[in-house]
Amino acid sequence: MALAHTSGPTDVPLLEETIGENLARAVATHGAREALVCRHQGVRLDYAQLGAAVERLARALIGAGLRAGDRLGIWSPSRAEWVLVQYATARAGVILVNVNPAYRTEELAYALRQSGCRMLIAPERFRTSDYRAMLEAVTDQLPGLERSVFLDTDDWTSLLDGAERVSPEELAERESGLRPDDPINIQYTSGTTGFPKGATLTHRNILNNGFFTGELCGYTPADRICVPVPFYHCFGMVMGNLGATTHGATIVVPDAAFDARAVLETVEAERCTSLYGVPTMFIAELADPEFGRFDLRALRTGIMAGAPCPVETMKEVIERMHMREVAICYGMTETSPVSTQTAAGDPIERRTSTVGRVHPHVEIRIVDPETGATVERGQRGEFCTRGYSVMRGYWNDPERTAEAIDADGFMHTGDLAVMDEAGYVNIVGRIKDMIIRGGENVYPREIEEFLHQHPDVMQAQVIGVPDPRYGEEIMAWIEPREGAELDAEDIRAFCRGRIAHFKIPRHVRLTREFPMTVTGKVQKFRMREISIAELGLTETETA
Ligand code: AMP
Repeated sequence: MALAHTSGPTDVPLLEETIGENLARAVATHGAREALVCRHQGVRLDYAQLGAAVERLARALIGAGLRAGDRLGIWSPSRAEWVLVQYATARAGVILVNVNPAYRTEELAYALRQSGCRMLIAPERFRTSDYRAMLEAVTDQLPGLERSVFLDTDDWTSLLDGAERVSPEELAERESGLRPDDPINIQYTSGTTGFPKGATLTHRNILNNGFFTGELCGYTPADRICVPVPFYHCFGMVMGNLGATTHGATIVVPDAAFDARAVLETVEAERCTSLYGVPTMFIAELADPEFGRFDLRALRTGIMAGAPCPVETMKEVIERMHMREVAICYGMTETSPVSTQTAAGDPIERRTSTVGRVHPHVEIRIVDPETGATVERGQRGEFCTRGYSVMRGYWNDPERTAEAIDADGFMHTGDLAVMDEAGYVNIVGRIKDMIIRGGENVYPREIEEFLHQHPDVMQAQVIGVPDPRYGEEIMAWIEPREGAELDAEDIRAFCRGRIAHFKIPRHVRLTREFPMTVTGKVQKFRMREISIAELGLTETETA
């Protein structure tokens, strides 16, 4: 038996340029082709217009006093300005900090403080989220935040006006000092110890990962990629935006936040050739009662990723959505993100029931989590990745970086996988204590620590339980303090407004005891079994 250790092809070389240089080439080659369509804003930009808008904003950022290496946060649902900010920060050498638009005060304050953001860009409000009020509530915790710029207000126009003070030569001068290996993006991912960690990525990391993901999808300038996944996550800003602009393709944004109907309408109206989504999104689109009225025949490909992909959903996407070349990607933010991907030419069975094979220029191995030795093909172990795609580290956190990336440069993903003889990989579980609810990662520890702040909570233990719609749902087992009156609604009300909605326990079970090992450790797998039986839930077969 061969060992579970492979490297991807290297025939197409890595891009050795900055994101700005790559965009400049796209603008020069594809000027009149459509680059960005944001349906909900009525925005349409061709490559020449996108290039000009990005240049103006990059000069404006320099005019606002941001230096190379400074941090700028963006806390916004998907909109055209997000894309402009992504490319303008890259041109100005400013590190973009992605803040999940679902973050609430606790999480926002932590991310901005930990990364040391000097500027924050956000809409004033979106649906029920009052971003201005939430920011004001935590401003005293953010001495380093010098300026907040609210979109659709004078803040934004006066920021842009500042471009007049900075000449194109000054911008060129700034860009000449940038290198592909410079950090350019910090993405916060849920943390094992109660706080999110800032995965720090370079131009080289994300530009190449977007490029090769697009290569495997066979993108050309004729492709129109529907991106309903959020920009704050690498699925949107790397596989979506960079995947498109490295190929002269079009980014099509159906709505500010996911809405199944808006996706179907957009695919039809914009004749999209590719559609992205976490499994939950495809499940919702297929379940739309009016699904049959949409003409989705322009679709050729797309990507399902971010959480275990149900085999049945993959089959339906191929048959009912015409996405005959659809790919499954597997990866994580810390690896830019993609490590494996199915290819259009793979046998259909492999394309629906595995996460594919190793990506170009990437090396993967599956190791025994106890000994670190590479296991054989067919055996399960921890999935590890090495190569250009591995992040620089967690921002200002050498300790946790050293826990994640070993001395040989392999990122330990915490995912359990099996590799077959032909190199195809299956994700079979996780050793990290993490829940994925509809594509959003949640570490139980983070919620447990938060729930312990409730005066009537004696002990809180959080688990993930299967859910047909979200893959997994959050469940909290709560032991109230002696004499305290607590119910599920009290727990949820305590969370609202302070932590993101997707971390709020859907199921709450009040209890007086937890299943324990003899050494007194809570047995989460037992809690899960008990809850599955009590709630009458079932598990789904996935890739
Ligand atoms: P993120 O950092 O948000 O991209 O989440 C990364 C995690 O999502 C991985 O470590 C996996 O646990 C999970 N994940 C991503 N893609 C897949 C997939 N195709 N199948 C199963 N799990 C996945």
